[in-house]
Amino acid sequence: MREWLIEYLICPTCPGEIGLSLSIAVRDGDNILEGELACPTCNTRYPVLGGVPRFASAAADYCGNFGFQWNTWRALQIDRLSGHQLSAGRFFGDSGWDPAWLKGKLILDAGCGAGRFADVAASAGARVIACDLSSAVNACRDTTAIWDGRVQPIQASLFDLPLRRGIFDGVFCMGVIQHTPDPKRLMGGLPTFLKPGGRLALNFYEADFWPWLQGIKYALRLVTPHLPTGATLALSRALVRVFFPLTAAFARLPVFRTLSVMIPICPVHDAVLTPEQRYAWTVLDTFDWYSPRYEKRQKYKEVVLILADAGMADISGRTGAVTARAPERT
Ligand SMILES: [Zn+2]
Repeated sequence: MREWLIEYLICPTCPGEIGLSLSIAVRDGDNILEGELACPTCNTRYPVLGGVPRFASAAADYCGNFGFQWNTWRALQIDRLSGHQLSAGRFFGDSGWDPAWLKGKLILDAGCGAGRFADVAASAGARVIACDLSSAVNACRDTTAIWDGRVQPIQASLFDLPLRRGIFDGVFCMGVIQHTPDPKRLMGGLPTFLKPGGRLALNFYEADFWPWLQGIKYALRLVTPHLPTGATLALSRALVRVFFPLTAAFARLPVFRTLSVMIPICPVHDAVLTPEQRYAWTVLDTFDWYSPRYEKRQKYKEVVLILADAGMADISGRTGAVTARAPERT
């Protein structure tokens, strides 16, 4: 962790935003590789391991699948490492943020995975605190190392973030909300981290009619989240081996989406990807269907109401994505 992070960290359990003391065991310039953070009030200690402060254990309960997933496919969705712009397209499309606005801003990535969106924000000049409960933070640390400390991963629960409130110019939570045990509590809590006028961007699986057509997927999901990771991966690979050629044929048809929802894989056929990348991305997204413990879809109109209750302004929603702004100080 870089020294700049310490001023933003607080004890996640004590009330009143208690800052943490840092003891350093191994450092490389301003990068603290090994050490310990301690709360002066409750004396709880949090290790810094491999350059990442750890407020949650690597064995964290419901998201071991994501740790496995993002350490296995760490580069595939990183635009800069895989030669595409798909992550940037989704990030700017769903947030509505301008790349020029991001320069010099402090941004929270709530649920960073391997860092696909943190990397986009950093490439536009932002400083990013990237949080994840799973060991995906290790992949994020490695994929974003090129930004020389402007992306700072933290392993912590999004429901117990060890961060001061009211400090971020922007907070985004993308591809994460549906996979948490309490999406409403998560979405209601994220606005507290914004400065006055700060911007919030959420995306999520919409609770629309498409899942009703995906009977095989949801029948399998009755079992797959409870299987060992290796078994879910083997099942995902087997399904992709069988069905990928079929979806490749469907992809040329205008009714592709209607036909493909009947098939129990999540096919990716973006023309900008190489054939090998499309296949690998399909295995990744299919594993991402079957392995998460939670898949709690949201209605964007309800998300708008949650953010209104949280006091947000300029709320704008559409299927699967909502943006808002924290009110200016009066
Ligand atoms: Zn404490």
